[in-house]
Amino acid sequence: MKPNAPPAKYAFAYKDVPYSGNKINGLGSTEKFRPVPPFHNTGRGVGREEIPWAALDTFFNMSNPWTVFWENIKGLWERRNAAGPVTRDPIEVTDPKAMADQIKTKAKELGIDLVGITLYDDDSQYREHAFPYKYAIMIGTVMNRDAMVQAPHTPAAKEVMRGYLVGSKRANKLAAYIRSLGWQAEGYGIGEDLVQHPMAIASGIGTLGKHGSLISREYGSNFRISSVLTDLPMALDKPVDFGAEDFCISCKKCVIECPPSAIFDTKQMVRGVEKWYVDFDKCIYYFSDHMGCSICIEVCPWSEPGTGPSLSEKMLKRREAAVNS
Ligand code: SF4
Ligand code: SF4
Repeated sequence: MKPNAPPAKYAFAYKDVPYSGNKINGLGSTEKFRPVPPFHNTGRGVGREEIPWAALDTFFNMSNPWTVFWENIKGLWERRNAAGPVTRDPIEVTDPKAMADQIKTKAKELGIDLVGITLYDDDSQYREHAFPYKYAIMIGTVMNRDAMVQAPHTPAAKEVMRGYLVGSKRANKLAAYIRSLGWQAEGYGIGEDLVQHPMAIASGIGTLGKHGSLISREYGSNFRISSVLTDLPMALDKPVDFGAEDFCISCKKCVIECPPSAIFDTKQMVRGVEKWYVDFDKCIYYFSDHMGCSICIEVCPWSEPGTGPSLSEKMLKRREAAVNS
């Protein structure tokens, strides 16, 4: 376990223990279905009182140190800018590839670190949270590594909230730009209303790691995800394969370092798909008691700055050699 990480203890006394988050997420289920958000949520669509772990989420938000709480408040204030008026007479889109390039150029101008485009489809929707858009622009906001290596302590928690604040601002600015082109668009700075991971993977900004978070070739897992939903027609990106999956198969770093041993070492069946998965019911107490934790994403070797490209090259060469032998 990470040397400066407090050990796991189970201090929460629910009178009625909430329905298992793993069941809500569909762990062990071969059936495809749309889950409800088990923890973080806005109460939009599904009433907040119906969210099984909402009380623990409230505890999490209210028990953060003031500096972390303040970053969170700034993020909430920023998210009021998520939507706005749309310019009349939309520009005509005859070349979706050129449009995608234009949006990505704008994203870079706004300082966005990672950007990819995919469909907003059934797999990206929580139950009763379907928004009237066709496309999702996925955004990655890189966090300060010096702060994040201090997880699960205050500097890291503050940096996570700052990451969401910056991601919210960038998503809202990009959405406003699209609306200025005459197409409806809305920023989603924090992923409470969207099942973001499948979209982030499909958009090519990263692949799923054993720790249940995204890994990007350039920044490892040291980034936050935000989104813009829109109807603006754009060419879609594709998932990437840079060798992180191969690496995860033989690496156990996050499994060993997770204080409550919440990370499965093998893939699990989740709503009809075999994938890496974190035991929600084990993680969430530690996560809530330690300001969002973040240990697993920061101990991941891909998160070490400058490591990803060489690691990727090594893994892809190793795979090629195995195929040719
Ligand atoms: S720490 Fe290792 S096993 Fe865990 S996600 Fe990173 S590369 Fe994969
Ligand atoms: S965030 Fe959850 S899964 Fe990751 S190290 Fe902390 S407790 Fe474990």
